[in-house]
Amino acid sequence: MSNTALNAALRASSFKKHKTINKFSKTQCWSAFHPTERNVRILVDTGIKASGNQTTQAKVKAVFINNANQWRNIVPEQACKPADITKAISDVQTKAAKVPVCKFCYSKKFVAKSGKTVCASACWTNRNNGGNNNMKKSTKWHRKVPKVTKMPKPAKATKPSSTPTYALIQIKPGDMVQLAKYDSSCNITYIHKGFLGTVSKVESQIKLGDNIDVFWMKKDYETVPTWAMPYSNRIDRSGDRYCYHVISRDDVEIKNK
Ligand SMILES: [Zn+2]
Repeated sequence: MSNTALNAALRASSFKKHKTINKFSKTQCWSAFHPTERNVRILVDTGIKASGNQTTQAKVKAVFINNANQWRNIVPEQACKPADITKAISDVQTKAAKVPVCKFCYSKKFVAKSGKTVCASACWTNRNNGGNNNMKKSTKWHRKVPKVTKMPKPAKATKPSSTPTYALIQIKPGDMVQLAKYDSSCNITYIHKGFLGTVSKVESQIKLGDNIDVFWMKKDYETVPTWAMPYSNRIDRSGDRYCYHVISRDDVEIKNK
């Protein structure tokens, strides 16, 4: 397979070429979000050097991107011939989908340097440090909105990704956002004034809505646990999780799903 054909195959599978050459391998890498698993990115090292030298071996792996923007390897790198790249990508995608998630925050688990399999978002840190505060916050929240009190249990039993009760809020790069909670009619019931940021990147993901990167100018780490932070433009209509709320535009569309 020629380098051009390899690049075309990656582009056809919605992969994006990394702007900079990998400083360790000196080769061109591409990546794309997993079609169904949230915050999982598939990484392809084409093995093509900056000089364009012929590829001998490509490598594919999967990472989970946690809320601190750290990439955690969840499927180890597997090498393949450039001609077999599409098959290798689909193998890694299948493996990534099977990687178990943390029961507290639904982040994927990975093998840490200690050899232990742990939550990729290290959510136990939040639970240990601010566990009591978070508990108090959420009880108070449920008390304010009586309808929600019956909702949380079934919501916890099923993965959020399989729950159809959501909406998509239109978010554009440069939008000023805050964290908010919505009711079942997508009306805002709460705005977290301690969080204020600018959207730095919007990346569409066909099945799950858009992945949103936010540069937080004001961020109160104490009050929102990692697992409750939003990662896309989805609005959770159960009001269980935080979602984004755009404050810089009046023409924001919310599409029901
Ligand atoms: Zn976790």
